[in-house]
Amino acid sequence: MTAARDGDLAAIFRRLIRNTGPISLSQFMGESNARYYANRDPLGSEGDFVTAPEISQMFGELIGLWLADMWIRAGREEPVLYVELGPGRGTLAKDALRAGKRYGFAPEVHLVEASTALREVQEDAVPGAIWHADLSTVPQDAPMLLVGNEFLDALPVRQLVRTAAGWRERMVGLDGDSFVFVAGAQPMDAAVPDEWREAPQGTLLETNPGAAAVIYEIAGRLAEQGGAALLIDYGSDEVRAGSTLQAVRAHTKIDPFAAPGEADLTAHVDFATLARIAQSRDVRHLGTVPQGDWLRALGIDVRARTLAARAPHYAEDIEVAKQRLVAEDQMGELFKVMGLAAPAWPDGGGFGAD
Ligand code: SAH
Repeated sequence: MTAARDGDLAAIFRRLIRNTGPISLSQFMGESNARYYANRDPLGSEGDFVTAPEISQMFGELIGLWLADMWIRAGREEPVLYVELGPGRGTLAKDALRAGKRYGFAPEVHLVEASTALREVQEDAVPGAIWHADLSTVPQDAPMLLVGNEFLDALPVRQLVRTAAGWRERMVGLDGDSFVFVAGAQPMDAAVPDEWREAPQGTLLETNPGAAAVIYEIAGRLAEQGGAALLIDYGSDEVRAGSTLQAVRAHTKIDPFAAPGEADLTAHVDFATLARIAQSRDVRHLGTVPQGDWLRALGIDVRARTLAARAPHYAEDIEVAKQRLVAEDQMGELFKVMGLAAPAWPDGGGFGAD
């Protein structure tokens, strides 16, 4: 391994581990991603990964129509808030707000974004938006239509592993200069649900306390303020064991320990747990469905045909983009859309209730 630059996150982690012992995976992931997003725009073919709104305007437009439809059917209350978590380049917000505007949906725009570099990009896409470091400062006196695409998967996960000595937290330690997983010294059996307590040695459980806290807050706000939320991410709607931690750099999966702060670290989202948390606050879980099914139910095929008729030279590009969003072997099945709504709000399209 080459000598680390001063201020390099890998060097900082090594110093910390040598001085104080292994750090939690959650600290490793949280600090890596904070550093990663702070100074760059990682999105697009020139960057590290491509997201749905960057593939086609149809994605943001259909989300905008869903939000506007909810707002109209709930009685067109004004003022109303559009809130987006981790808006990236602001593309989804721009497309959604343009589509919603045709139906009179003209919300105040509140963007929750930690990265200074990305806030600058978002400012060009969504003039007049108001930025927040987290949800706590978003106004509480109007209904909220909230969206988060590939936001929850970037929040730090915690992993627990069943060792010969019982359950332990999975920590990051050092073997020479290389980062390695080690079991923490503290017994963690009390943090494990009863049915997993006696699982075979080597069993691994992953939890995302940050995602749980965000959903808890969103649900509390929906119940109080009214509104609805769409959370879209790579994940499963059932609880499973095993690690889903991964790192991506330049469109390629790499070892999560190879370049802390220089690669995007993500984990799958456990939608089953998040839906339970939302319901515990009396918010309605409209459903968690595969992205492809949801976009089709919302009319992506018709939208693609309209766009292609207007721009025949791009007809093939539009079809390829649509396939990337909906095909089962691309994003259509792995990505899920979770819908939440305030108790008195309607069901919303695409979740099978209408
Ligand atoms: N939603 C965008 C970008 C996804 S990348 C898209 O679909 O293209 C993840 C986004 O979440 C980035 O904007 C990143 O800066 C932001 N982000 C990650 N962790 C965050 C945190 N803890 N607080 C606020 N924003 C965060």
